[in-house]
Amino acid sequence: MYVRRVSVFVLISVLWLGCLVLLWGCGGSVPGTNFVAKDEPWRNAEESSCLAAGAVRRTSSIQPHSALGGPSVCGTEHPFEMSAAMGGRVVMRPPALLRCPMIPSVDRWVAEVVEPAARFHFGSSVAELRVAASYSCRPMNHVSGARLSEHGYANALDVSAFTLADGHTITVKGGWNGDRQERAFLRAVHDGTCRHFTTVLGPNYDANHRDHFHMDLARHGRDGLMNICK
Ligand SMILES: [Zn+2]
Repeated sequence: MYVRRVSVFVLISVLWLGCLVLLWGCGGSVPGTNFVAKDEPWRNAEESSCLAAGAVRRTSSIQPHSALGGPSVCGTEHPFEMSAAMGGRVVMRPPALLRCPMIPSVDRWVAEVVEPAARFHFGSSVAELRVAASYSCRPMNHVSGARLSEHGYANALDVSAFTLADGHTITVKGGWNGDRQERAFLRAVHDGTCRHFTTVLGPNYDANHRDHFHMDLARHGRDGLMNICK
């Protein structure tokens, strides 16, 4: 009797440990079709508190959108479609699908970085941003088997060009090593972007980013507060 109890206890312990090892082994990961995603509870918590705080005001250029993703780990419950920043003054083309915390960050970035840089370097307002990517359920840098990109959580925006009110368009691809004015403008925008997002990647980072600025609100480092600005 005693022996049988001990064997049941051992069996349960082994099964329990097995589950634990399995979870640790995967790092709580959920293998996707072509990416790996971690279980990160902060994402839902952050989205909920952003929504509860009313951080996004519905306007003609910022509209709620139906849930993205699901049943996969991709997406977000309450995304928004952002077709312009600064109260409709700066058009985003095509409109971006973004989760709640991204909307005020993009808005502030346009108002406090892009617009002042356009005025300083060209004496003109910014009128339009070319959106190269927003929500996209894919691995980082499209590399199969890599971690799910922040784009997969609608937590990232790629911008490839800026059109001014006078019609002048500055592309990241052509201007990064272009004339003095465009180079200075794009570097000012790149550096300023790092004040508003936790990850900023541009042409100096790698060839994948030679034609756009990537910005997202991922959490980096142990405390989640580290910034990546490249
Ligand atoms: Zn990107």
